[in-house]
Amino acid sequence: MSVRCDGFVFDLDGTVYLGEAALPGSVDGIAELRRRGKRVLFVSNKPLEPRTNYAAKLTRLGIPTSPADVITSGYVLGHYLAHHQPSLRYYVIGEEALRAELRGHGLTVLDEFADQDPKEVIDPTGIDAVIVAFDRTLDYRKLNTAYQALMRGAWFYATNGDKTCPMPGGAIPDAGGTIAALETMTGRRLQLLAGKPSTLTMEVALDRLGLPAERCMMVGDRLETDIAMGQNAGMLTAVALSGVSTRADVARMAVPPTFAIERLSELPALVE
Ligand SMILES: [Mg+2]
Repeated sequence: MSVRCDGFVFDLDGTVYLGEAALPGSVDGIAELRRRGKRVLFVSNKPLEPRTNYAAKLTRLGIPTSPADVITSGYVLGHYLAHHQPSLRYYVIGEEALRAELRGHGLTVLDEFADQDPKEVIDPTGIDAVIVAFDRTLDYRKLNTAYQALMRGAWFYATNGDKTCPMPGGAIPDAGGTIAALETMTGRRLQLLAGKPSTLTMEVALDRLGLPAERCMMVGDRLETDIAMGQNAGMLTAVALSGVSTRADVARMAVPPTFAIERLSELPALVE
């Protein structure tokens, strides 16, 4: 079976690389797709690093990539808000890279001061929207500031909803628990999620590719995020069995991905 496909969206961890090493076949596979004129984009749920870092890492691993060809959950959220709510004042539970990303989209991000009294909050009446993200500097003051603003009706957004972030030898807490904590405290529900599995990520990706969904393929290792998101967007999908999913997982799916591959170098032969 061969399908028409002109654009590819690749998940990174477990699909293109694992830790600091490119997965077998990914360098050759992506090079061959590009040689045949296919558009290639990379997507990460992590808002911890700027797009330049992901581009530099891919380039270092043998996949020359410009920052414009990488989207993160922070980028997706900034892009969306810059188009829909450009003049709000945003309070961010997140790290500096995310604040810089949002400011780069022209958004007003309220400042945090590391030496501030942990019992003090930023004046919540000056906050129009709260953005929750992966934040390894999370503390009581941030939770309290967000709580006070949300109780006064601020918008409630998040970059990504992952419960944990895989690390060598285990995992560390991600944004999911912070979102759940604020939902519990306020009785409110998150109003917008930018990262996978939100369709917002795919809308931004397809916009960047400049191609219709049916001529693009989402390639990733997670069925419940990468593949579900691609299917919801009406894209072709390929699960890379190099990460968290197995053939047995794929066999249990009601709607299986278009392709299941062991390595990305199989992709060029599957498309025209
Ligand atoms: Mg992955």
